[in-house]
Amino acid sequence: MILALAGNQNSGKTTLFNQLTGSNQHVGNFPGVTVEQKSGEIRGEKNSTVVDLPGIYSLRPYSAEEIVTRDFIINEKPDGIINIVDATNIERNLYLTLQLIELGRPMVLALNMMDEVRANGGTIDVNALSAELGIPVVPISAARKEGLGELVERAIEVSTKKIRPQRLDFCSGALHRCIHAITHLVEDHADRLGIPSRFAATKLVEGDAPMLEALGLNQNESETIEHTVSEMEQELGLDRNAALADMRYTFIEGVCTRTVRKPQQSREHLRSVQIDNILTHRVFAIPIFLGIMLVVFWLTFGVIGTPLSDLLSAGIDRAAEAISGVLETYGLNPVMHSLLIDGVFAGVGSVLSFLPIIVTLFFFLSIMEDSGYMARVAFVMDKLLRKIGLSGRSFVPMLIGFGCTVPAIMATRTLSSERDRKMTIILTPFMSCSAKLPIYAVFTAAFFRRHQALVMILLYVLGMAVGVVCGLILSKTGKGKPIPFVMELPNYRFPSAKSVGLLLWDKAKDFITRAFTVIFIATIVIWFLEHFNYQFNLVEDSEYSLLGTLGRAISPIFAPLGFGNWKAATALITGFTAKEAVVSTLAVLTGSSVSDLPGMLGTLFTPLSAFSYLVFTLLYTPCVAAIAAIKREMGSALAAAGVVLFQCGIAWVVALLFYQVGRMILG
Ligand code: GDP
Ligand code: MG
Repeated sequence: MILALAGNQNSGKTTLFNQLTGSNQHVGNFPGVTVEQKSGEIRGEKNSTVVDLPGIYSLRPYSAEEIVTRDFIINEKPDGIINIVDATNIERNLYLTLQLIELGRPMVLALNMMDEVRANGGTIDVNALSAELGIPVVPISAARKEGLGELVERAIEVSTKKIRPQRLDFCSGALHRCIHAITHLVEDHADRLGIPSRFAATKLVEGDAPMLEALGLNQNESETIEHTVSEMEQELGLDRNAALADMRYTFIEGVCTRTVRKPQQSREHLRSVQIDNILTHRVFAIPIFLGIMLVVFWLTFGVIGTPLSDLLSAGIDRAAEAISGVLETYGLNPVMHSLLIDGVFAGVGSVLSFLPIIVTLFFFLSIMEDSGYMARVAFVMDKLLRKIGLSGRSFVPMLIGFGCTVPAIMATRTLSSERDRKMTIILTPFMSCSAKLPIYAVFTAAFFRRHQALVMILLYVLGMAVGVVCGLILSKTGKGKPIPFVMELPNYRFPSAKSVGLLLWDKAKDFITRAFTVIFIATIVIWFLEHFNYQFNLVEDSEYSLLGTLGRAISPIFAPLGFGNWKAATALITGFTAKEAVVSTLAVLTGSSVSDLPGMLGTLFTPLSAFSYLVFTLLYTPCVAAIAAIKREMGSALAAAGVVLFQCGIAWVVALLFYQVGRMILG
C-alpha cells in the first residue's frame, strides 16, 4: 500500500515522515528543502509505504516541485493521500486540500501543529471540519508524536476500503454551472484517461493546456468549453483563475468561521513579527546578517574551532611520530615508510584536523536555519536578487551551496523557469562551499592570524559579489523575466536539538568519509607522482618528479597571480577532485607534519600572494562531484565544461586584479 504525503511547504511533512518511518531526513524550518520524493515503510505496518513529496501550494504546476508532486499523485495513483495541514495557517493550507479532494482519491487530513494552536488558546472543531470537507480529519502534532497512531489507522482504513472524499462540490453560482457543464462534457474523455471528470473540468476552467491535449477533445468540444468559461467570466466579472481562487477561498472562509476558533493572537506569531521588525528591517537587515556571520566566523575560528583543530592536529602529529618510531624499529622499507607517514598521515591528517572547525561552523549555521532566521535572509535577498534579474527563489540553492554545491545544484529543480535554472546553476558554485574551509583556515592561520574572521567574511562576500556581477552580465544577455517568488516566513522557533544534532552528524560523517576515500586516494597518488619520474625511478628532488614536471609546466599561468611555484599549482590541480585536497597536497609537497603546515606555507607564499591564492581557490572550478551534478542537471557535458572554463577564467581575472592592484598599493 502506498500513501502519499502532500502538503504546503513547512507544514511538517518531513517531520511526520521521519516519525512514521523512523528515518532521519533533514528537517528545515525553511521552505524548499525537500526536492526529491523520499519513501519509507511505516513502522509497525508491513507493506505500507509513505512517500514524502515536495511542498506545494496548489496543483497548478508553476515549478518543478509542483510537477513532481502532481505527477506522482495523478500518474502513480497512490492508494491514499495524507494531506498534512498546518493548523496555525489553516486557511492557506486548505486551498491545496480542496484541489486534492477533487482528485477523488482516498484521503485523510492530518491537522498538524495542534500543539501550537492549543498553546495559544485556539480550538478547531475537528468533527465539524471533517463533515464539511467530507474526509476524515485527525489532529496531530508531528513534532510531539501526538495522534500519529490514529492517523495511520485512518489512512490505512480509507485506503483499503477505498473510501473516497464524500464531497466534491465546493462551488456556487455561475462557476458552479460552468464547472458542472464542463464536467458532463468531458466525462467520457476523462474516464478513458482514468482521471476524475470533475478534476479535469477544473483544470480546463484554469486553461490548463496539457490537460486539454491529454483529454483529446475535438474542436467542437473545446470551443464549447471556451464559450462556457467566457460566459462565466462575464457573469462574475472575474477572469477564470481569479474566479476559481475566489470560489475556493469563499468556501474555506465559510468552513473556518464555522469550525475554527482562532487564538487572540498567536504568541509565536506576535513574537516573530516583533523580531522581524528588526531582523528584516529595510536598511539594517543586510548589515545585521553580515554582523551575525562575522560573529559566527569569529566564534568558529577565533574562539572554539581553531583551538580544537590545533589540539587535534597536535594529536595526529603525535600519533604519526609514534607510528613512525614503531615502523623504524620494525625496519620497514624507507620508501613505504615515507608513503605512510609523509603521504597518508600528512595528507589525510591535515584534512581531518579541520573537522572541529567544520562542525562548529555548521552548528551555528544549523541553528540559524532551524530557528527560521535563514528564511528571513532568503526573503531579504529576494529583493536584491530581483534587481539583478534573478528570482528570489534562486537564493535557496545558493544558500545550500554554502554547504555543498552538489545538493545545491539539485535544488535548482525547484526553479520554475529554465532561464532562472541555468543562471542559478552557473552562479551557485561561486558560493563558497564548506570543503574550501580547510584551505581558508590554513591560509588565514598562516598569514592573517589576527584578522581571520574578517578575511573569511571578505572571501564569502567576494564570492557572492562575483556571482552578482556575473548574474548581471548573464541577465543582460539572456531573455525572459524572473518568475515571482512566494515564500512565506515561518515563525521563529527554538531550534530543536535533534534536528541540529542530526545535521552535524551528517556533516561530520560526510567530511570523515571524504577524508578517508577521495582524499586518501588523492594523497597516495600525489605521493607516487611526487616521488617517481618518467622512468619510474625514485627521485631525490621532487621538483624533477612526474608531478613536479607537470606543476612546472602549468605554473607560468599563475605567475601573474603571484603563485607561480609548482607546488601551489599542483595543489590546484588536485583540488579538482575535492577542495580539501588542496590542503592535503600542500601538506604532502611541503613535507610538513600536520600542525606545522601553516608555518611551511610561509616559504611558498607572501601574504599578498596567499590572498590571491585564496581568491583563486574561492572562484575556480567546482569539484568533480559538482561538475557531474551540473552535467546531469544541464543535460549536456558541453555545458558543464563551459561552466568549468567560465569559472576558471573568472577566477584568474579576479585573482590577477587583486594581486596586481595589491602590489601597486603595497609598492
Ligand atoms: P516540510 O517543509 O513540510 O517538510 O516541514 P518540516 O517537517 O521540515 O517542518 C517544518 C518546521 O515545523 C520544522 O521547524 C519543524 O520542527 C516544525 N514542526 C513540524 N511539526 C510540528 C508540530 O507538530 N508542532 C510544532 N510546534 N512544530 C512542528
Ligand atoms: Mg520537507
